[in-house]
Amino acid sequence: ELSKMGWLLDMTKLRLGGIIGEGEFGAVYEGEYVGQRVAVKTIKCDVTAQAFLQETAVMTKLQHKNLVRLLGVILNKGLHIVTELMIKGNLVNFLRTRGRSVVTSIQLFRYSLDVCEGMEYLESKKLVHRDLAARNILVSDDNAAKISDFGLTKVVSKEADKAKLPIKWTAPEALTKEKFSTKSDVWSYGVLLWEIFSYGRQPYPKMSLKDVQAKVEAGYRMEAPEDCPANVYSLMKLCWEQEPRRRPGFPKLREKLEREMGKRSPGLPA
Ligand code: ATP
Repeated sequence: ELSKMGWLLDMTKLRLGGIIGEGEFGAVYEGEYVGQRVAVKTIKCDVTAQAFLQETAVMTKLQHKNLVRLLGVILNKGLHIVTELMIKGNLVNFLRTRGRSVVTSIQLFRYSLDVCEGMEYLESKKLVHRDLAARNILVSDDNAAKISDFGLTKVVSKEADKAKLPIKWTAPEALTKEKFSTKSDVWSYGVLLWEIFSYGRQPYPKMSLKDVQAKVEAGYRMEAPEDCPANVYSLMKLCWEQEPRRRPGFPKLREKLEREMGKRSPGLPA
């Protein structure tokens, strides 16, 4: 009965290659599925629950140029999640290894805008990401930034393990009251902007997680990354408004980013 569902893939058609990454639940492999290059994420836990399968079914229907495309899943001694292969890896490593001499500031705007558009789409589908961070943004061969891991966080970490929340990326109301919303995603997006414009630095450098949570709650905010355009830093601070309602939505953020980008490259379409 399961095999009738289009998103349940055939294990025998999958050719597994080498390990390309290490995830929280297991290794990520490179591979090929009926001629297409794919990434295969293995999840070592009991996730055969109907709720999970339904969720992945929804995810296969999500299609946007800034979301990593989910081809389907394979159930075989655990779960394998098959997605399009993003050969340039995650955005943190990408920015760290290339740095300021290779990646121009216009490209930083481009990545920021890509993620913003992907988030706008997720919001329109009433999905909250909960784990938006540069490590979960992947770069395609044609240099587009795409959001990965959408939808999964909610199902996989069902017990919403508080100890596992990414403290430096999570909005205060989500940390203390488990109030996750598009506006808590906007907070994380602000941290992601900081990561992008600092070329992949660890947020809140040198601060312990405990300190971060206490200080942010008391109103402390990160300084602007080196050479960060003032208007971009203003955007970050808007994302970090204590009150979720005061934070801009993704459409507003996109508008502002496009305007800034337009100022820097008047010749190019935004
Ligand atoms: P976390 O929950 O901490 O974000 P995770 O368990 O979700 O981690 P991923 O972030 O999905 O694991 O994958 C780990 C790494 O594997 C990524 O940082 C990336 O380098 C690589 N990777 C994951 N998916 C792909 C893909 N589709 N194409 C290329 N590389 C990938």
